[in-house]
Amino acid sequence: VAKPAPILTATGIRRSFGGLTAVDVAHLEVQRGTITALIGPNGAGKSTLFNLLTGFDRLGTGTWSFNGRRVSGMSGHQVARRGMVRTFQLTKALTRLTVMENMLLAAPNQRGERLWGAFLRWGSRAARTTVETGAPDAAGGASQPLSRAWNALARLGWRSQEQANIARAEELLERFNLLPMRDEMAGSLSGGQRKLLEMARALMTRPAMIMLDEPMAGVNPALVESLLDHITRLRDEGVTVLFVEHDMDVIMGISDWIVVLAEGRTIAEGRPEDIRSNRSVIDAYLGA
Ligand code: ADP
Ligand code: MG
Repeated sequence: VAKPAPILTATGIRRSFGGLTAVDVAHLEVQRGTITALIGPNGAGKSTLFNLLTGFDRLGTGTWSFNGRRVSGMSGHQVARRGMVRTFQLTKALTRLTVMENMLLAAPNQRGERLWGAFLRWGSRAARTTVETGAPDAAGGASQPLSRAWNALARLGWRSQEQANIARAEELLERFNLLPMRDEMAGSLSGGQRKLLEMARALMTRPAMIMLDEPMAGVNPALVESLLDHITRLRDEGVTVLFVEHDMDVIMGISDWIVVLAEGRTIAEGRPEDIRSNRSVIDAYLGA
């Protein structure tokens, strides 16, 4: 059986804080289309590794490629544009916006949008130039319709982008059962609903891989099952999932592959059934 191509391949990832080596991972791969769990005791370096891979902490070393392209060294924004996204806890400012506003703020800064912007700037300049130089009279010669048409086009383009974003946001809110809350303040959501919103926001850009750092933390047990269903469904739709979790039942229940981190290094990896009985994994957890 041929090994499937990994979506993420990393080598030599290191990060220190003063004298402490938080991450020292020689090699890491995430297979496309899997749910891969990153586990390990508190302080093992899981969050630091997430920050490094996604470009939010650029003070580490190492090389990694996503979807066949090198992304190490890129900014978080650039990495996200390549399709590798992580969720973020809602900041205080975001909790004071509505659920829908939160979604729209996470909308892609699309290339199309930029091209459109460049096109418009060029067009308005051209229209203005015609008005200034070509118009027979300043009060509205033959060129006025040109700039008016141009402005209409500009509004149309902006609106179609905005409409596409709203449609995508509604589709995701519906999927995560948040549509009834679209006009509520994000701060009024329950812990579990916030996690769903964080996931929904990350999906606005249609990423190929989503990274979740403790998605079940603070979630009412009644909602855990539904969160897990959402994660599994994403995987089934082809989105690769890399997540950090502590609950062993959750990890064993939904992971296709597990990577174990301890003191910054990967000490084991394998299928859930292999990890469950792995001596060094048990030691790492008991030793924590
Ligand atoms: P995990 O997510 O596995 O619990 P972290 O990645 O948060 O672990 O932390 C790994 C180690 O790096 C810990 O010892 C932690 O104290 C340290 N660390 C993380 N972030 C910082 C930071 N910004 N400054 C100093 N030390 C940090
Ligand atoms: Mg952490």
